Amino acid sequence: MIELRQLSKHYRAARSVAWPMTRQWVRAVDEVSFSIAPGESVGLVGESGSGKSTLGQMLLGLTAPTSGSVLLDGRQLPQGRAAVAALRGQAQAVFQDPYDALSPRQTVRAILTEPVRHLQRHTRDELEGLAVRALERVGLHARDLDRYPHQFSGGQRQRIGIARAISVRPRFIVLDEPVSALDVSIQAQVINLLMEIRREQGIAYLFISHNLAIVEHSCERVVVLYLGKVMEIVPTAALHVAPLHPYTRALIEAIPVPDPARVQGGSLLAGDMPDPANPPSGCRFHTRCPMALDACRLAAPELTEHGANHWIACHRRTELTPVSDPARVTATAP
Ligand code: ADP
Ligand code: MG
Repeated sequence: MIELRQLSKHYRAARSVAWPMTRQWVRAVDEVSFSIAPGESVGLVGESGSGKSTLGQMLLGLTAPTSGSVLLDGRQLPQGRAAVAALRGQAQAVFQDPYDALSPRQTVRAILTEPVRHLQRHTRDELEGLAVRALERVGLHARDLDRYPHQFSGGQRQRIGIARAISVRPRFIVLDEPVSALDVSIQAQVINLLMEIRREQGIAYLFISHNLAIVEHSCERVVVLYLGKVMEIVPTAALHVAPLHPYTRALIEAIPVPDPARVQGGSLLAGDMPDPANPPSGCRFHTRCPMALDACRLAAPELTEHGANHWIACHRRTELTPVSDPARVTATAP
């Protein structure tokens, strides 16, 4: 349904102090290609600054690509405002901070009816009915229609954000860190709600998170991004059995295991992420990769098919092994 072809976004970086005359570019997203089928949930993971939000914005037509294209049902999205128009009613977004995403001066009624009113002709009663149904679907009530965002908890506000996204019956939703700002106790509830809605309505998701544990249970496939480049595309079912890219592996091993006797993970991801305006040569992960060889510094590896629906960009592809850690597998099971 949605296809990204060699999609790139480069931003001009702040001028460097050492070389004020050089113009540096941040390759926030660099030649990324993958597609999302109708009703499919694809996770997009990577550390902060890896380009996840920029990619989501391009899918929504909110940011114009520097090069490459986004196709909707095989047709290339136009540029600029025309892209937003082409996606209207098809694509919606839910963002991390529900408080920022909802206008504080609008009632829940206005928040929920405005997107629908612009798209479809409805009587006032029909609009009210649609708003009530969307609210009830997310576990809120008709009596909440006249309240304002500040009168709700963070979890409830995110439910309102979800109700707004589904009110136009989209085919596709970009969820950008939808639970990252919520208490851990609320996160699972909101994720479960999102998954129920997807099952009922067949909406496709791009589920963005810096936390692999979160997308693991809500997505069929995961796209792993590092400094704007796809490192791996892997079915979630294969995450604990198939050989994995060293970066994906590090992300899995960084997931805390609830066992005080065990040493916590994260050790593989030594050091900070390199400066995105000045990324490492060759494979961008080589400076932090425990398996890096000279070849990794010299040339960027191609994304190559490694198994059923499984793609890896790694020069040492054939030597990779699965994360064989039974404690971790059980600890991250739903
Ligand atoms: P993520 O969502 O994975 O944290 P982002 O897509 O927000 O990553 O950012 C990717 C990179 O692009 C970062 O280095 C960020 O600083 C840069 N970037 C994002 N938006 C802009 C912008 N509007 N102007 C300049 N640089 C940007
Ligand atoms: Mg982001």
